[in-house]
This record gives sequence, structure tokens and C-alpha cells, in this order.
Amino acid sequence: MFDYLIVGAGFAGSVLAERLATRSNKKVLIIDKRNHIAGNAYDHYNEEGILVHKYGPHIFHTNSKDVFEYLTNFTDWRPYEHRVLASVDGQLVPMPINLDTINKLYGLSLNSFEVEQFLESVAEDIPVIRTSEDVVVSKVGRELYEKFFKNYTRKQWGMDPSELDKSVTSRVPTRTNRDDRYFTDTYQAMPLHGYTRMFERMLDHPNIKVMLNTDYHEIIDFIPFKEIIFTGPVDEYFDFKFGKLPYRSLEFKHETLNVEKFLAAPVVNYPNEHLYTRITEFKALTGQQHPKTSVVYEYPQADGDPYYPIPRLENAELYSKYKKLADETPNVHFVGRLATYKYYNMDQVVAQALTLYKKLTEKSEEALQAKKPAISGSASLVEKLVSRAPKQE
Ligand SMILES: Cc1cc2nc3c(=O)[nH]c(=O)nc-3n(C[C@H](O)[C@H](O)[C@H](O)COP(=O)(O)OP(=O)(O)OC[C@H]3O[C@@H](n4cnc5c(N)ncnc54)[C@H](O)[C@@H]3O)c2cc1C
Repeated sequence: MFDYLIVGAGFAGSVLAERLATRSNKKVLIIDKRNHIAGNAYDHYNEEGILVHKYGPHIFHTNSKDVFEYLTNFTDWRPYEHRVLASVDGQLVPMPINLDTINKLYGLSLNSFEVEQFLESVAEDIPVIRTSEDVVVSKVGRELYEKFFKNYTRKQWGMDPSELDKSVTSRVPTRTNRDDRYFTDTYQAMPLHGYTRMFERMLDHPNIKVMLNTDYHEIIDFIPFKEIIFTGPVDEYFDFKFGKLPYRSLEFKHETLNVEKFLAAPVVNYPNEHLYTRITEFKALTGQQHPKTSVVYEYPQADGDPYYPIPRLENAELYSKYKKLADETPNVHFVGRLATYKYYNMDQVVAQALTLYKKLTEKSEEALQAKKPAISGSASLVEKLVSRAPKQE
């Protein structure tokens, strides 16, 4: 009998498997319908021997010391600060928009103070910010919105920014200095030997059994377990009872080229031309030396694997119905990006999984306390486990 059946071997499922097995001595079966572990963060060496990310570029960044230290148990790191250029008006300019972006685009030589004044002069006064368009136009004005955001968002989401929740573009900052890093988090690094290697080390424990190529429907009635941790799509778990939660998908076109370096930056965005949104050159992320180079083109799609929950009010309302049902379902814990229908970065999912682990250990401690005789001479097993519990919680 397994203590836990964990559905999905991405960050959410693997962090919980690792904690439950190593810290709480639980027997865990973790399954995935794909033929590999690591979920969307999966990377592998392609036919030319170049390390590539199958599901698009994954760049690790976090402000959480706890999350970073937790993952450091399973990998060494390669320091890496991500940079992106956008192809606009025939030029490659830094993205997010900064001082150099404005100067290059308009042939100016403004300083930080002047660029701030420039942005203030073009920004539109929008009293109530509701949509993605409002967010950007109120910060950088209509012209820059149209050059950088409008068509990119249309391609990415299949919708005009005026139809999308403000959360989509509020993630993208604008800077008046020359900082061209894509992220400004305290910790920015790539797992030295890749994500999959890191996951292998997380799951390498005698209490953890891994089963791949297995949809949970295939085994749920045959394998005995006490509780489920579910990291797949929440609507699927409830047989789409209230309807399907909408997702945006992507098609990844991978290519290996007979040149050592292909792009002027690790990622180049194409807001206005082409059907793809961006190209990524993997060696720039991983630091691998190789005479050839591998890139991936991302083509947004309506259909396919669920990648991005579509942030619209009606979808949030639909999700809240599933969430209510999920909260009422005993012994099933929903965690991760698909099970909580939210765009989370990897570090956020790790944090969410560590929080659930803490809740589960507290729950089992309560159960043990309830069973304990009134006078007890020695510390309970759970007390010992909790006292050994990791610092991040
Ligand atoms: C294109 C793209 C780029 C990204 N880039 C970044 C980035 O640069 N930085 C960053 O921090 N984050 C990035 N992310 C987000 C990152 O991928 C997620 O935060 C992370 O993968 C979420 O982990 P998870 O465990 O919740 O989900 P997943 O990794 O999706 O894992 C869920 C697993 O459940 C399995 N599953 C689903 N249904 C079933 C079923 N019925 N039976 C069995 N198994 C099932 C799936 O096969 C999957 O492997 C990116 C995401 C995408 C799509």
C-alpha cells in the first residue's frame, strides 16, 4: 500500500515526492502520462548532443532563499542572467523597454531623467486600469504599446490585449536605466547539468517508485494508496463537470544549425513579424560548448497541450467552481500549475509544494496527537520528524 499516489512528475509532484519520502518516510508512487520526469521543465541531449528544453526555454529565477536553497540540495548551479532582444522596426532592441531601447528606436541620446520625462509625456491617463492594453498604454503610451505589445499579445493569446486581464502585461516592467536583464530576482541561475538531472536526484530514494507512460485513469482502481496528490488539470480530475477550463497552447519547432552561434541574444522576440513569437538559442542558457547550435521557435496555438491558463474573468469564475469541489474532496490534494489553474513560475510551484508538504505533516501530527495516550514518556515519531523538518517552511 502506498501512502501517496502522486499524479504528475513535474516540480509540484517531484518536490512533494522527495519531501514525503525523505522527511516523513512515506511510500510514494509518482506517475506521469509522459515518457519522462520533470514535467514542462524536462531537458535532454538531442541527436547532436546539445542540451535542449523540450517544452521551451526554462530560466530559473527567484527571490526566495528557501526555494533556492531547497533546490541546491539536488543540483549545482551555473550563474545566468537572462537577456532578451526584440525585433522592432528592423532593429534588435532590449526588452523589457529601457533607456537604450528608446534611444536606439528613435535615434536619440536621452539620459535616464530625460527618458522618464519622455515616457511621462507619451503615457495616457487611464483612470481605471482593467485590461492588458490599459496597463501598457498608461505606462509607455500607444506607439510603444503598438510596436512591442499589441501584436505579440495577439499572437501569444489569440486575443487583443484589450480583452485580456491586466495581469498578463503587468508582469513586464519598463526601465529608465540601462539594466537589460530580463529578470531582477536575487537568485538567477541554471541547473549546472540541466533540469532532468536535478529531478533524477530528487526522485532517487527507495521510498519513491516512478511510473511513466501512465495516465492515472489506467491505474487508479488497481493500485492501493491512502491519499492522492494531483498535479494534472483540475477540470480533467472532475470529468469536466462544469466545462473545460481554457488554455493557450504552443507548438515548439526545434532545429539544429550548422553554425556555432545563431542569435544576437539568448532569446529574440518577434512582436510583429512571423507566426512564431520568439526564438531561443539553448547554448546561451546552458553555457554548453559545441560546434553546432540548437534553437526552438514557439508558435502559439489554440489546441494542444495545456500551457497557459487564459486570464479572463469568466475563466477565473469557472475555476472557482472546480476549486470549491477540490476543497471538498477528502484525501486528494491539488497542487501545481494545472491543478490550481494559474500561471506559476517554477519557483512559485516549488514554494506551493513545500507549503502543502508542511500542511500534510501538520495534519498527520494532529492525527497522531489525537491517538496519543494522555501521558506519554517520549517524543512521538511525528514530533521527531517535525523537528527534523526543513528550515524553509
Ligand atoms: C513555454 C513555457 C516556458 C516557461 N518558462 C519558464 C521560465 O523560464 N521560468 C519559470 O520559472 N517557469 C517557466 N515556465 C513555467 C514552468 O513550466 C512551470 O512553473 C512548471 O513546469 C510547473 O510545474 P507543475 O509540476 O505544476 O506542472 P508540469 O510541469 O506541467 O507537470 C505536470 C505533469 O502532470 C502530468 N499529467 C497531467 N495529466 C496527467 C494524467 N492524467 N496522468 C498522469 N500524468 C498527468 C503532465 O504530463 C506533467 O508532466 C514555463 C512554462 C512554459 C509552458
